[in-house]
Amino acid sequence: MDVKKRIHELRELIEKYDYEYYVLAQPSISDYEYDQLMKELEELEKAHPELITPDSPTQRVSGQPIKEFPTVRHRKPMLSLANTYSEEEFREFDQRVRSALKGEEVEYVAELKIDGVAISLHYTNGRFERGVTRGDGLQGDDITSNLRTIRSIPLRIRRHDPVPAFFEVRGEIYMSKLAFQKVNREREERGEPLFANPRNAAAGSLKLQDPKIVAKRGLNLFTYYVDSDEPGFVRGKHYENLQLLKSLGFPVSPNFRLCKTLDEVFEFVKEWEEKRDDLDFEIDGVVVKVNDLDQQARLGATAKNPRWAIAFKFKALQAETLLEKITWQVGRTGIVTPVAELKPVALAGTTVSRATLHNADEIHRKDIREGDYVFIEKGGDIIPKVVGVNKRKRTANSKPPEIPDKCPVCGTQLIQLEGEVAIRCPNIACPAQIKRGIEHFASRGAMDIEGLGTALVEMLVDKGLISNIADIYQLKKEDVAELERMGEKSAQNLMDAIEQSKRQTLDRLIFSLGIPYIGSNAAKILAKRFKSLKALQEASFEDLEGIDGIGEKMAQSIVQFFKNKQNRELIKMLIKAGVKTEEVEEEVPSEDLILKGKTFVLTGTLPHLKRNEAAKLIERYGGKVASSVSKNTSYVLAGESPGSKYTKALQLGIEIINEEEFLKMINQTK
Ligand code: NAD
Repeated sequence: MDVKKRIHELRELIEKYDYEYYVLAQPSISDYEYDQLMKELEELEKAHPELITPDSPTQRVSGQPIKEFPTVRHRKPMLSLANTYSEEEFREFDQRVRSALKGEEVEYVAELKIDGVAISLHYTNGRFERGVTRGDGLQGDDITSNLRTIRSIPLRIRRHDPVPAFFEVRGEIYMSKLAFQKVNREREERGEPLFANPRNAAAGSLKLQDPKIVAKRGLNLFTYYVDSDEPGFVRGKHYENLQLLKSLGFPVSPNFRLCKTLDEVFEFVKEWEEKRDDLDFEIDGVVVKVNDLDQQARLGATAKNPRWAIAFKFKALQAETLLEKITWQVGRTGIVTPVAELKPVALAGTTVSRATLHNADEIHRKDIREGDYVFIEKGGDIIPKVVGVNKRKRTANSKPPEIPDKCPVCGTQLIQLEGEVAIRCPNIACPAQIKRGIEHFASRGAMDIEGLGTALVEMLVDKGLISNIADIYQLKKEDVAELERMGEKSAQNLMDAIEQSKRQTLDRLIFSLGIPYIGSNAAKILAKRFKSLKALQEASFEDLEGIDGIGEKMAQSIVQFFKNKQNRELIKMLIKAGVKTEEVEEEVPSEDLILKGKTFVLTGTLPHLKRNEAAKLIERYGGKVASSVSKNTSYVLAGESPGSKYTKALQLGIEIINEEEFLKMINQTK
C-alpha cells in the first residue's frame, strides 16, 4: 500500500466529512464510520511519524468559527476528546494515565456523553455576559443572543453568594428527542430537508441568525466544567465541581458516578448503553475523567485532546433481524430498486420493517440473501440501512437472490444502460411507472393537486379510474366519493383542486410531465423561452441546445419525449380538458426591469413569500434565478434554516439579503 497516498486520501475524506458535520450540520456517514477513518489515519501516522503535519485532522480540533457571528478567543482551549469503542483500549488509556502519574492512585468520574454542541458561558458579576461555541478549539462564535433564549441557562446567579467577578462554565447544548421530532415534523411539512439527529438539529439551530426562531427550537443545557482565576472558588475534584455547578443553579445531568475501579467504569458504561432509550435526550457514550484537578493539570493535553479524559462511545444503534424477502420496486423513471422486507424490529424508538438495499451490486457485495439475519443500523441517519449479515445464522440451503430480468410489475425485459448500476424497466406504460408519474404530476412542486397523493393514486389506478395524467381531468366526483376513506366532502375538495390545477403556470406544467432530466429550473427556462407547450413541442434539438441552461442531454430528452406518439396524445387530451398550456406574460415596462442582469439564488424559508412567488417576482423585474451559488451570483435571498447555499455565499463573499430587503429592492421601482 502506498502509505503517503492513503494518508492523503484519509485527510481529504475526513476534511470533507468535517465540513458536512460541523459547517452544514448534515453528515453523510455515521459517527462510527468516521471514527474508523480517523483511527486508521492515527495508526498510519503513528507508524510513519515523519508524515505527520500540523494541519492533519489528528492534530487539531475539527470545526471552525463561522463568519456570521463575531469571533471570540477562548481563555483556555476548548478541546475535543479521544475516543474508544472497546474495553481493551480503555485499559490502555488507564495504563497511560497511571504511568504518567507514576503509580499514584487514580479515581475517575464517569458521566453521560450528551450528544449536543459544546458551549462556553461567561459570567461577570454573577450575570450571563457571553456565550461562545467551541469553533476550532481556540476561537469560536459569539452566539450570546441565541443562547439567551434557552431557559435553562441562568441569566443571573441567585443561589450562591458570593461569586467571583468572573467565571466560566462549559457544557453541552442539546435538543431533547421530543423537540427533535417536532422540529423535523415541521420541516417535513414545509418540504425542508430533515435533520439527521438531535445533535445536528441543535448545531443547526444555534447557527440561526434570528433568536426568535432559536427560542422555538426547544434547546436545553447540561454543564460539566467551571473555571475561575479567583482562588478557592473552583474545587480540587471534578466530582465536587459538578456539585458546585448544581448549587450555582446550572443544570447538571443527574447521572454521574465516582468510580474507584475499572470494573465500576465498565459497569456504568454497560448500564447506560442499555438504558439510553429511557432518557429524553440522546447520548452517544460515556465520558470518563480523572477526578483530581491537580492530576489533570499534570497529565496535560495534546493539541487536540486532554490526556485525562476519554469518551467511551456506544456503537451506532444496531439491531439484528430476519430479512424475510427482497422486493423490487419500480420508480417513476423505471429504475428498479431492491428493498429489504424485514421482520419488524425496534430500533432507536421506531419500528423498522423495511430498509433500502440500493442496487443489485450492493446485494452482491454484501452477500445478502433472503432468510438471512441481517444487521440494520441507524447511524447519524434516519433511514435505516442493512450493514451486514450474521453469517453464523445462515441456513445451509440459502442461495443468493435472483436479480430480476423482467419488470416485477409489467413483466417487460429489464435493461441496464451503459455505465449505470441501476436496472430499468423500459416500458413507459408500466403501471408502476404510471402511478409514480401521476404522483409526480400532482405533487406540490408540479401541478400541486392537493389530496392526490400516493394512496389515492394507487387506488384510482388499481380501480381503473385513471391510467394516465390526462385521465385526472375526466374523474367524476361520484366515482371518487365511493372510494374507501373518501366521501362527499373530500371528493369535492379533490375536484376543486383538480379544477384549480388547470390554471397552473407553464413552467410547472412542463416540469410535471416528468421529462427525464427536466427539473423545475430547466422547466422555467423552457417556459420563458417558448411561452407555450406547442412551441416547445415543435422545437428542434438545435433550438433547444442553444439555450443557456439547457444541456445536450436535456435537449435530446425533450425531443425524444415529444416524438413519442403516446406523449403527444396525452398532451392533446390535457388541452382538450382545459389545461392551460400557454404562459400569459404580464407586460412590465422596460424601465421597471430593475433586476436585469442580476442573478439570485434562493435558500431557506422566507417569512411571507413562497419560493416560487419570490422567483416569479425576480423574473418579473428582469432578474434570473439560479439553483446554485457561484461567483456569478448577485444575491442570495435567504430565509429561515438556509442550507449549504448560504455557507457557500459566505465563502464567496456574495451579498446575502432577507425578504424585507428584497421587497425594498423591487418596491423602489414602483
Ligand atoms: P466528540 O463529540 O467525540 O467529543 C468531544 C465533545 O463531547 C466535547 O466537545 C463536548 O461537546 C462533548 N461532551 C458531551 N458530554 C460531555 C461531558 N459529559 N463531558 C465533556 N464533554 C462532553 O468530539 P468532537 O470533536 O466534538 O467531534 C468528533 C466526533 O464527531 C467524531 O468522533 C465523530 O464521532 C463525530 N463526527 C462525525 C462526522 C460524520 O461525518 N459523521 C464528522 C465529524 C465528526
